Amino acid sequence: MKQLSYLPLEQLSNWLLEAYQQAKKGKLPDYIPLLKQTDPSLLAICIITENDNILIEGDSQITFPLMSIIKPFLLLYLLSKLGDNFIFQKVNSKPSNYPFNSLEQLQLDQGFPRNPMINSGALTLVSLLSGKDSNKRCHNLQQWLNKQSQSNLFLDELMLNSVESLPNPRNQAIIDELTQRNHIKDPEITLDTYNKICCLSGTIIDLAKLGLLLVNSSNISSENASIVRDIMTTCGLYQASEDFAEKIGFPSKSGVSGAILSIVPQQGAIACYSPPLDAQGNSVASSYLIRKIANYLI
Ligand code: GLU
Repeated sequence: MKQLSYLPLEQLSNWLLEAYQQAKKGKLPDYIPLLKQTDPSLLAICIITENDNILIEGDSQITFPLMSIIKPFLLLYLLSKLGDNFIFQKVNSKPSNYPFNSLEQLQLDQGFPRNPMINSGALTLVSLLSGKDSNKRCHNLQQWLNKQSQSNLFLDELMLNSVESLPNPRNQAIIDELTQRNHIKDPEITLDTYNKICCLSGTIIDLAKLGLLLVNSSNISSENASIVRDIMTTCGLYQASEDFAEKIGFPSKSGVSGAILSIVPQQGAIACYSPPLDAQGNSVASSYLIRKIANYLI
């Protein structure tokens, strides 16, 4: 396997030009008004290797909400606070072929969430965060992540207002089901906290630094990092997870804002951002770039 740190900059610049064209095939999500208004031509990539080589191209100053990319880091945080035995009594770690916000999947599984990368699992994990209210709970996670990864994540209040401006019946239905089955307490605080942690935002560099926590961080237990990477590999890209795992094989997580984070084990992290999404909800240009880099490395 070739080394991520030797990826030629010229090659990366060419892929970026192609990725701009690819992005035109995608669509902006319409269920969060501010995401619908994002400039579709934004594009950024940051690669950080474990020896701290850093390669950045595109709109590196732009900040964006992590949305579902917070999910593996929520899992990492709770594994470090509560341990894997406790966590996996609350959620499973199996892939799902249903959409990320499926109530049906949860009902088929008798209310035991299939994995922490889909909303039922993430909401269940959010309910385990400590703190008297959603502000405190979100803040605890934000602070921990910033400290461990030296990043500057912040809560984007405008994005949060936009998320909360439209009802989200699917997430509400999942919360109701989990509450009825006594899987979560404090349903309101849980949903508020979930919306807040999805609006934790940063630049492409912040995202790549978060990714490095799953490569070789001296502050993170290697067992916990490996648990998170394994679940990202099989469950990280919505319904495209299986295909991506077969063809690319890198632990990855995408979010509805258009970011994708991929981990190249023992080498580094690749963070990409481009807002237009494909039919499965993954950023078209970000998946394109990651596929190109994976094919180069293998
Ligand atoms: N806030 C989003 C939701 O739960 C996050 C979705 C995503 O990025 O996949 O609907």
